[in-house]
Amino acid sequence: MTKNEANVTFLGGAGTVTGSKFLLTYRGTRILIDCGVFQGLKALRLMNWEPLPVDAGQIDLVLLTHGHLDHVGYLPRLHEQGFSGPIYGTGPTLDIAQIILEDSGRIHEEEAKKANKEGYSAHEPALPFFTLELAQKTIDLFREVPQDAWQYAAENLHYRFVYNGHIVGSTYVEVKINDKILVFSGDIGRAHDPLLFDPKKPARADYLFLESTYGDRLHPKDDFERVLEPLIRQTIADRGALVVPSFAVERLQTLMYLLHQGFQNKTLPEIPVYVDSPMGNRVLEVFQRHPSWHKLRESDFRAILDDVTVVTSYEETWKVLHEEGPKIIIAGSGMISGGRVLTYLQQLIDQPTTRVLLVGFQAEGTRGRLLLEGAQELKIYGSYLPVRAEIHLMESLSAHGDQADLISWMSELRQAPECVYLIHGERPAQEALAQKIVDAYAWRVAIPKLHDVVSLAV
Ligand SMILES: [Zn+2]
Repeated sequence: MTKNEANVTFLGGAGTVTGSKFLLTYRGTRILIDCGVFQGLKALRLMNWEPLPVDAGQIDLVLLTHGHLDHVGYLPRLHEQGFSGPIYGTGPTLDIAQIILEDSGRIHEEEAKKANKEGYSAHEPALPFFTLELAQKTIDLFREVPQDAWQYAAENLHYRFVYNGHIVGSTYVEVKINDKILVFSGDIGRAHDPLLFDPKKPARADYLFLESTYGDRLHPKDDFERVLEPLIRQTIADRGALVVPSFAVERLQTLMYLLHQGFQNKTLPEIPVYVDSPMGNRVLEVFQRHPSWHKLRESDFRAILDDVTVVTSYEETWKVLHEEGPKIIIAGSGMISGGRVLTYLQQLIDQPTTRVLLVGFQAEGTRGRLLLEGAQELKIYGSYLPVRAEIHLMESLSAHGDQADLISWMSELRQAPECVYLIHGERPAQEALAQKIVDAYAWRVAIPKLHDVVSLAV
């Protein structure tokens, strides 16, 4: 490598939405941007168990764009493989990442125990992906940095975090090497979010690494109450359950906030709401600790908790299931790939009085995606269950910008990037977005594959 060349290796989030990991190398300094797990398709999930194709012990530092599992969930495995440098992120990002990693460690341990007891794992014995203890050792490496301020990483190599409105604390990352700027978009939020401010837009990017989750779609303008009101009414009429699988971070708080508003304004019929997410409360505390990162006021926190019953123990989960009468149940995880929602759907998916409302992106191979595609049966805890529930989708609650938002996010770049690399998207979304960028800006676009390495003149 010549001294004015940097390399980026795509270790995840290439040709797929999940597993974001981008290794930036410049003159012996190695920076990993995000460290997520693969989710969804089995072939992807199996890759989580392989060691990284690079020496983790040689990585100097990690930068986190935000706290979602597909951006932080591989950190304990990275630590286990020898990484012991600092992990940098904004305050709320590190708080969220801590909650997610601790929760994952607990779930991995529980699931391994359950699989061993009930004998449904293909592995003998089933091992946790990582333990709570390993998660906590990894969290010890977290170092908070403020947004917007340039940070020194090595000679002629600086970085900073800039607000991008996807979840609380989320940012894009700018890396300055000599006089070139690399921008890693992270996941880009949407304008006019009920809880978050609009994403900031970069003014300069010589090389842009752009997420493309919804690169081929425009979110419908389906108004929250217009979609939800009839679903609640029907649920009340047949005394059924409306199950909303939800990401514990952000979607859950947005749902609680919008439900509260709908009940207050009497635009939604009253119905008991159960929030079964052990993480949900801790995430609300993160909002409270970081008031400058979102629009919620102190009084909003009390108010949104007034309208819901928060379920904290597994025994209570069963009480909710046996509770007579109509109800809304909000439980993680958002793509039904794990979490408490599995217990609810195991009991309720075969009932015609059940409605399932999906509210976020559903990656290939997840149960959420299968339901959206009309699956007749669903495998939960090793058994196939017939799907008799109605399946609904509300894309307008997505935390990701759509194609128009992504195009608009690049609109303040004063000069053309040397290349836009599309990451964090499935192939059809990336191809559509690539075409759109060429049409709108006539810039050079590339769609890297997993493990590709690109050399950048810096
Ligand atoms: Zn995300």
